[in-house]
Amino acid sequence: MSEVVFVGTSDAFGAGGRRQSAVFVRAERGGMLFDCGATTNTGLAQLGISREEIDVLLISHFHGDHFGGIPAFLYASYYIDARRHPIEIVGPPDIEERVHQLADAMGHHLRDREWPFPIRFREIHPEEALSVGPAEIQAFATQHQPDANPQGYRVRLGREQIAYSGDTGWFEDLPRQIAGSDLFICECTLHQAGLDFHLSLDELREHRDDLDCGRLTLTHLGNDMANQRGQLEIETADDGMVIKL
Ligand SMILES: [Zn+2]
Ligand SMILES: [Zn+2]
Repeated sequence: MSEVVFVGTSDAFGAGGRRQSAVFVRAERGGMLFDCGATTNTGLAQLGISREEIDVLLISHFHGDHFGGIPAFLYASYYIDARRHPIEIVGPPDIEERVHQLADAMGHHLRDREWPFPIRFREIHPEEALSVGPAEIQAFATQHQPDANPQGYRVRLGREQIAYSGDTGWFEDLPRQIAGSDLFICECTLHQAGLDFHLSLDELREHRDDLDCGRLTLTHLGNDMANQRGQLEIETADDGMVIKL
């Protein structure tokens, strides 16, 4: 059995006073974090989730609300946790260089020191599969700003399969990519359609029957969605929400 804990469920801008994207999955063979936004370390501390439980950071794309927390995660693992076991950072093409650029810009240089735990970067390309830590991961390209190398994932952990959209607008292939998942964690920034690069509740209502998933949970909620969370016919996530699979 796996447990899914929503660490952060806001859009990029903290709508509703909530935290940026991060979902922790605790599985029998290890733990992984889907995305690590700038507010994620605060969320882990507040929810009592130890970084030591996290073996894999799975990053959907290179926007700050999805990968901006990685340098602080690594430094906290070093200074606070005295971590000794490896961390794998898995993400789109160029992940290693993009994380180094981010860390350098933040003044948290990663190349300056000997890390007492191995930091392993692994690229995964759309339509590729990769076995990492507790998971079998498959990537798919999404409809989002192309320079952020956006992708979504299908992750198999034991018997359960979780699909994660990352950030995306609607695209024709999305139903095929998430088909058969037990849980589809899908972004829904907007209530009404209006952006090519983000999904809306109206679009998801229209396509709900095309989505073959056991449970659909919406996250990355902007202001309108945040104000109505818990009152819609499709389930919305909230910071701290737990799903058992
Ligand atoms: Zn985002
Ligand atoms: Zn984005």
